[in-house]
Amino acid sequence: MSGANGFGRFFGGSASEIPPMARPPAPPPDTREPLQFPTQTVAQPEVTPDVNEPAVTDPVADEVVEANADTVTEPEVEVPTEAQVTEPVTSDPVELGPTGRPMPNLPDPRPVTVHGNARIISMCNQKGGVGKTTTTINLGASLAEFGRKVLLVDFDPQGSLSVGLGLNPHQMELTIYNLLMQKEITVDEVVVPTNVPGVDLLPSNIDLSAAEVQLVHEVGREQTLQRVLAPAIEKYDVILIDCQPSLGLLTVNALTASDGVIVPLECEYFALRGVALLKTTIDKVQERLNPRLTVDGVLGTMFDGRTLHSREVMQRLVEAWGDQVFHTVIRRTIKFSDSTVAGEPITSYAAASTGADAYRQLAREVAVRCPDV
Ligand code: ADP
Ligand code: MG
Repeated sequence: MSGANGFGRFFGGSASEIPPMARPPAPPPDTREPLQFPTQTVAQPEVTPDVNEPAVTDPVADEVVEANADTVTEPEVEVPTEAQVTEPVTSDPVELGPTGRPMPNLPDPRPVTVHGNARIISMCNQKGGVGKTTTTINLGASLAEFGRKVLLVDFDPQGSLSVGLGLNPHQMELTIYNLLMQKEITVDEVVVPTNVPGVDLLPSNIDLSAAEVQLVHEVGREQTLQRVLAPAIEKYDVILIDCQPSLGLLTVNALTASDGVIVPLECEYFALRGVALLKTTIDKVQERLNPRLTVDGVLGTMFDGRTLHSREVMQRLVEAWGDQVFHTVIRRTIKFSDSTVAGEPITSYAAASTGADAYRQLAREVAVRCPDV
């Protein structure tokens, strides 16, 4: 992070100055509420009327505890025994979602007749392989199924979004690099339609890595993407930016151009590390460059409800981020890799799969949280 394109260069900080991630210490097992199984209907025990309330923060939970890999494999949360789960029903059972909180009703987004005034949302996490690109493609495709006009912006020099939508990186005439660096190029010239109805793409390839270096010398370097995207806002309902796995100048550009940010997080313990740095980045961009930036949500990806590990990570996410965590989680399934190879979203490659349904549900939840979508 302290390299030429590291985040510290833009905000005068360095990774070593970032506080360690705050984790609540493991409470003694007998003081913990039993962990609820995802999507399980659990009877409300007679003696614990608030058992279905989301876990509230313990006063000592604010203490900063250094993440310790040794504690990862230790089951710190008591798993309810079968006897606990099947206690006599005393009131209406409450449906708990995979995040351990009651699942809200998520209606289909209202139909839109007039397009425009797009909400711009960045998919951001400096860690690679957490589902940023997968979420960009499939949330975009799902919002398009609900009648939204969607523009996807590939803002990663690896060009995975473009490849994932079936483009050949060597056969692109114009890419977002040209849009950023050549003043005479307009957004309309670079946008390409995709095979997904209602979804357009601003493609990218390795050329974009040069932009990061060249932009450093420009005046208003952090606002470059915002400037070039401005004419597209009137044509789309949603613009989703797929960020690269770093907190360098390209990501700062994406956050500066955005109204909201979605943080996809793999449900693995080590995914939680580094989240504090990401939060600091978002806060600094909001403070110094883009006051309208909000966290639209933290998305648990590659969730495996059968493992205690996944459920525990999810519980920690909710403890750390509260209601910013989406109720929707994306489960681990091989179909995502298969659909990438096929060059299409899972919503069309395996339209009836649980993965496709999960992203449709995410689209509903985004629409509930962001009424401008
Ligand atoms: P990022 O953009 O953050 O680097 P990707 O979206 O490219 O991450 O995902 C990394 C890899 O994981 C890809 O091969 C993708 O197909 C796969 N993947 C993404 N989401 C899931 C999931 N829910 N279950 C299984 N594999 C997934
Ligand atoms: Mg990616």
